[in-house]
Amino acid sequence: MSSRYSAILHEIHTEILPLQHHGTVAQYIPELAKIDPNKFGMHLRTIEGNDFSVGNNEELFSIQSISKVFALAYTVSLVGETIFERVGVEPSGSSFNSLVQLEYEKGIPRNPLINAGAMVLCDVLIDKLREPKDDMLAFVRKLSGNSGITFNERVAASEKEFGFRNVAMAYFLKSFGNIHHNVDEVLDLYFHICSIEMSCKDLAASFLLFANHGKIVSTGESILNKSQTKRLNAIMQLCGFYDEAGEFSFTVGLPGKSGVGGGIVALHPHRYTVATWGPRLNAKGNSVMGMKALELLTTKLGSSIF
Ligand code: GLN
Repeated sequence: MSSRYSAILHEIHTEILPLQHHGTVAQYIPELAKIDPNKFGMHLRTIEGNDFSVGNNEELFSIQSISKVFALAYTVSLVGETIFERVGVEPSGSSFNSLVQLEYEKGIPRNPLINAGAMVLCDVLIDKLREPKDDMLAFVRKLSGNSGITFNERVAASEKEFGFRNVAMAYFLKSFGNIHHNVDEVLDLYFHICSIEMSCKDLAASFLLFANHGKIVSTGESILNKSQTKRLNAIMQLCGFYDEAGEFSFTVGLPGKSGVGGGIVALHPHRYTVATWGPRLNAKGNSVMGMKALELLTTKLGSSIF
């Protein structure tokens, strides 16, 4: 099997080359627009701990919305399922930063993996943690086994300066009573966790938790119970790609999460995790090369979760 993963990753690397110039790098966060658009990396880690990779798999990039999964896992580990009284578990069918749904659903975000949902998670984390930013970083470092992971302060500042829609969203949530803390404090945590930099290798390592019943494979530490892990995977499956979640399920067939930094991470429970990075995005904000690479992976392996 091992040599098969390696051969498949190399085939994929060749087959996605024609897509190299498709899509555009996220422009609305000026600091993100500076990234070299032609990068591509892919890293697969098996549940047994074997690594396979191609391209720029160890290069750091801004994980952006992928951080919402870490925020959700941390929140659930602290407050359990009570979080779902303040945020739903239904696919949104709208863009990640939509304000429309929030109005008619009275400030309860559809799910935790859209911006509004993640802001509610940040509000809870501020409530429960002594040093929310440091604690969040420590959590991600623990899951990935990489103590060097950190925020990119320039990206966080750039988003703070230009993220007018997110500011509007946080105040909107507050008007419905679904943000309890100071809005600036919530946004500061939100922008910082979006700015975390990781590589495909780090992401594959940290998501192994969700392929392993909520236990960190390398240390055996239990972060989530079996039922919580199942629920998080279900949320990723239904909501991990915004209004393209159906397409990702349809073509790839794994739970996963994307970010506008061009990263995607997905997992096959009990088998492997896989992360891709290609900064050019499609119109829905998902990496063009990453989506195709993962479709090719599950097709060539002949297995998805379905
Ligand atoms: N920080 C970005 C934002 O709030 C995250 C969006 C994303 O990755 N889809 O707009």
